[in-house]
Amino acid sequence: MADMMKAAVFEQVGVIKVKDVPVPEIGAGEVLIKVKNTGICGTDWSIYNGWYSADKLPMIPGHEFSGVIAKVGEGVSGLKEGDRVTADINMSCGNCFYCIRGDQLLCDNFTQLGIHTDGTFAEYVKAPALNVHILPDNLSFEEGAFIEPVSCVIHAAKALNARQGSSFAVIGDGLGVLHARMAVLRALAPVIIFGNNHKRLEIAKEMGADYAFHIDEIDDPVEEVMKLTEERGADYVIEAVGKTATYEQAFAMLRRGGTLSSFGITEEQDTMSIRPFEFVLGEKKITGSCAGIGSDWLEAITLLSNGRINPRPLFSMKVPLEDLEWALHELRKDPSLFKIFVSPEITEREIL
Ligand SMILES: [Zn+2]
Ligand SMILES: [Zn+2]
Repeated sequence: MADMMKAAVFEQVGVIKVKDVPVPEIGAGEVLIKVKNTGICGTDWSIYNGWYSADKLPMIPGHEFSGVIAKVGEGVSGLKEGDRVTADINMSCGNCFYCIRGDQLLCDNFTQLGIHTDGTFAEYVKAPALNVHILPDNLSFEEGAFIEPVSCVIHAAKALNARQGSSFAVIGDGLGVLHARMAVLRALAPVIIFGNNHKRLEIAKEMGADYAFHIDEIDDPVEEVMKLTEERGADYVIEAVGKTATYEQAFAMLRRGGTLSSFGITEEQDTMSIRPFEFVLGEKKITGSCAGIGSDWLEAITLLSNGRINPRPLFSMKVPLEDLEWALHELRKDPSLFKIFVSPEITEREIL
């Protein structure tokens, strides 16, 4: 096997260079994976712009991925060369206060593959064998690279723990589309989604959402939710945009006793105004959810491989590594794009 590989290195803020770097060396308990596809995520845009992980540059991002095992380290069992896989990107230490409590996502020494350590915008990546999941035969390498976002949505749904027959609203039509689908699967009704992209809202309706509103075509999302819930507000709300204004709307459209799940990532210093009154007399609750981990991945694989979630309408195109920077910009410019995959194995763009 070659000891050099092609990778898209984020050299500094706003600078990506595709170049040859050493293939990662694996140690005991690790596997080397030949990367097939990596989905571009909002986090990659944040890293590119220096809003996230700026202290880790230069690095190779990329974390929504699928691939094939190329090499197995010492002491690894249950995995072999040629296995089609993805990997849970979350790495926790196992012995801090949070890990011992079972809250590995809050680990004091938490890192994520492709966000804090070198990831998959490259020909090869290494991962701890314990994080690796084998792809069922009926999942394509594109679907395999979509398990990570689905696992995040599942984690948020668990945090909400919604009761069947409850009303649900989500603000945002990125992963908001999947939150709406998850709400349908959990027998919530009505399922209401707000967004700014007709195509995505249409997909949300095809996936079972009862109401899909384009924010430019309504006066006030809060009012729409009130109308649809006998003026009470929604039982459950997810904010999946990451802006103060939409968080305030999300909190305002929540009924007394309802639960808000915060999913959209705001700027670190952003603040919102909340009337404490509504916590006390309104008994409103807020949960947070930052990633999918552990069994969230198994459940994401199960839902995808059994067709409960069909992500294919969300797949837009596949591009070579060299086009990663172009694709990052294009995703901001062209609202008809949803998921773009990067593959080190192709040389031409492919429409999916
Ligand atoms: Zn992601
Ligand atoms: Zn820990």
